[in-house]
Amino acid sequence: MSHKVSLTGKTRLLGIIGHPVKGSLSPRMQNAALRHHGIDALYLPFEIPPSALAGVMKALPALNFRGLNVTIPYKEKVLRYLDEVTEEARQLGAVNCILVDKGRLLGYNTDGAGFTTALKAEGGLSLRDENILILGAGGAAKAIAFHVARQGCRRICIANRTVSRASSLRRRLQRFHPGVEIEVSGLSGRNFREAVASSQVLVNTTSVGMARRDPSIVPGRHLSPSHLVVDIVYKPLRTPLLRAAERSGARFLNGLGMLLYQGALAFRIWTGRTAPVDVMKRALRSAPEIRP
Ligand code: NAP
Repeated sequence: MSHKVSLTGKTRLLGIIGHPVKGSLSPRMQNAALRHHGIDALYLPFEIPPSALAGVMKALPALNFRGLNVTIPYKEKVLRYLDEVTEEARQLGAVNCILVDKGRLLGYNTDGAGFTTALKAEGGLSLRDENILILGAGGAAKAIAFHVARQGCRRICIANRTVSRASSLRRRLQRFHPGVEIEVSGLSGRNFREAVASSQVLVNTTSVGMARRDPSIVPGRHLSPSHLVVDIVYKPLRTPLLRAAERSGARFLNGLGMLLYQGALAFRIWTGRTAPVDVMKRALRSAPEIRP
């Protein structure tokens, strides 16, 4: 299908704001989806210095924006400019997707749902009644933890290098989801080994694995065929953790799935159309930045 971008005053704008945004794969994926549906809109990356954020947010309706993705370091900072946010985004205190509708700015967070949708679509797994081990306690860990708690998983263990950060995520989760069992640990030692052994799903949300010499964040000897191992890092696609999982006979998923499905959910919010997931996946896989 040909892309009907008229490049007139009617062309709607979409984009991603962050600092930096230069490595973002979202423009490639979202423009492929817009082309597929022949929608008169363009998705662009916007490198926004902190001093410009307020002005950008206020100008969105007048500039004919339909929506934005928001990435580091603005996921929390944009909240003060929004007219409304979903309950999940409010609990998280972070937004990764904004819809501009009749001059109002509405905030969503599709990261956690992107993760669970990928798990279901590519791993055939719903997290209901499962034990999940989340490695990391940063922004991505928080989005995943809140979403899986909403899905009714049995137990969440948060293992982080800085244990106090894992503990503060646990306190925030418990405030909103008192029925979910939540444990914390560091990234080594007996508690950590027990958390690995008793979890069905392990998800790495730390940046360990991005650098060429990074080790596997969980030593391969702790993994077994009963595990589903997910690494949300997607640069590279096959991280040391995923290679260790493969050698141990565990099932494993790379980080493209979460990226794809958080984007598919955002596309639906902005356009009301079903996201062409296969088209978006092909666009991601053909990105030169994606190495095996
Ligand atoms: P963040 O908020 O900065 O959190 C970083 C996390 O990594 C923290 O838990 C930090 O631990 C941990 N960490 C960093 N260096 C470490 C090391 N050397 N050893 C052990 N732990 C270390 O970042 P984020 O936004 O959550 O993103 C984390 C990763 O997820 C990035 O690689 C990002 O590209 C990826 N991501 C992927 C998707 C997707 O769609 N697939 C979406 C979002 C993010 P401390 O608390 O101890 O510092």
